[in-house]
Amino acid sequence: MSDYKINTKCVQGGYTPGNGEPRQIPIIQSTTFKYATSEDMGRLFDLEASGYFYTRLQNPTNDMVAAKICDMEGGTAAMLTSSGQAANFYAIFNIANCGDHVVASSTIYGGTYNLFHVTMRKMGIDFTFVSPDCTVEELNAAFQPNTKAVFGETIANPALTVLDIEKFAKAAHIHGVPLIIDNTFATPVNCRPFEWGCDIVTHSTTKYMDGHGAGVGGCIVDSGHFDWLAHADKFPGLCTPDDSYHGITYAEKFGQGGAFITKCTAQLMRDFGSIQSPQNAFLLNLGLESLHVRMPRHCENALAVAKFLKNHSKISFVTYPGLEGDKYYDLAQKYMPNGTCGVVSFGFKGGRGAAETFMKHLHLAAIETHVADARTCTLHPASATHRQMNDEELAAAGITPDLVRFSCGIEDAADLIADIEQALAQV
Ligand SMILES: *Cc1c(COP(=O)(O)O)cnc(C)c1O
Repeated sequence: MSDYKINTKCVQGGYTPGNGEPRQIPIIQSTTFKYATSEDMGRLFDLEASGYFYTRLQNPTNDMVAAKICDMEGGTAAMLTSSGQAANFYAIFNIANCGDHVVASSTIYGGTYNLFHVTMRKMGIDFTFVSPDCTVEELNAAFQPNTKAVFGETIANPALTVLDIEKFAKAAHIHGVPLIIDNTFATPVNCRPFEWGCDIVTHSTTKYMDGHGAGVGGCIVDSGHFDWLAHADKFPGLCTPDDSYHGITYAEKFGQGGAFITKCTAQLMRDFGSIQSPQNAFLLNLGLESLHVRMPRHCENALAVAKFLKNHSKISFVTYPGLEGDKYYDLAQKYMPNGTCGVVSFGFKGGRGAAETFMKHLHLAAIETHVADARTCTLHPASATHRQMNDEELAAAGITPDLVRFSCGIEDAADLIADIEQALAQV
């Protein structure tokens, strides 16, 4: 980790060219790497030497971009993945096997909920979902002897709940397991969960980090804080010899700061292969170079939109953790004093029909399933991502039929508000 401020890390982290080397991160568009002798290559396969041999395992471009995100989060090791979904799957599966259990916040992203609740359950991993607002007693009661991790989102997509990171970290550590946080919506510009006791951070880099709707990607970062060997009985994958790597014990050979990511690369990336392409990693890095400039504008625009809607006669509710009076305002002030995210959600006094009419009349804000893009995008979940649900099922998912998710881009706030105002006039 460098001593630079986050703004400098966004621009220059991860890559320091030497004399005469390219100023921009080079795209190493090569599947494979050449060696003089079989012995040289053998040492790489045994993890005895570090180096590149096949891009499914590691690629220099990807490593430079991962190193930048690692630096931004204040971690000790990081890896890129093909998507945010792959990042969250790997982060859990790296330490939880068939027969194990994980405690997760109930308001997490729908794709992650499905991954946990349906697909990973088929793999024999069980999940207990707890409200992010649960009491310490309720949280502690969710743990089982086979619990291997706790999972939550800094700011949940799309519920916009804010996780009390210290509460969740404390409970995880009392039970001898790490806290894993998906920091996609806050980004390390607004929140660095490791500073509050989180052990592993994941990202869908597809969102603000890329920021331009150019490439799907993910990232996993290890804080190096969690002492695997102190809980060796819970984490045999890290603390006992790996037969598929000549008996290496990751926690011993790579230490507290390197074990998690090395195992995740050597086993999961080797076997599942969800790599990010070097070309996409290059695009991601271009996004990272301006992340610290874009995030304040996203937040500023979202706050302006939230304030405008809050006072509008046709709007029934506004949810934005950066808005004074929001249920999560105090937690947001604690963990994200400089801003939260650009996503606002709101509802209509006229119900579902009003939301549908509103959506139809927007010009600048585009209807997309995407969020966290430089261009403003919006979605009416009840008629899109959640359209298979009836009103009762929607309520259980925390989504009302009139709810609109509005992801403020980095355009001029006055233009966004004017667009909203003219669409509201049609309602
Ligand atoms: C989008 C998203 C994901 C999934 O990421 P993909 O890159 O789309 O696979 C995971 N977590 C959060 C919070 C997200 O917003």
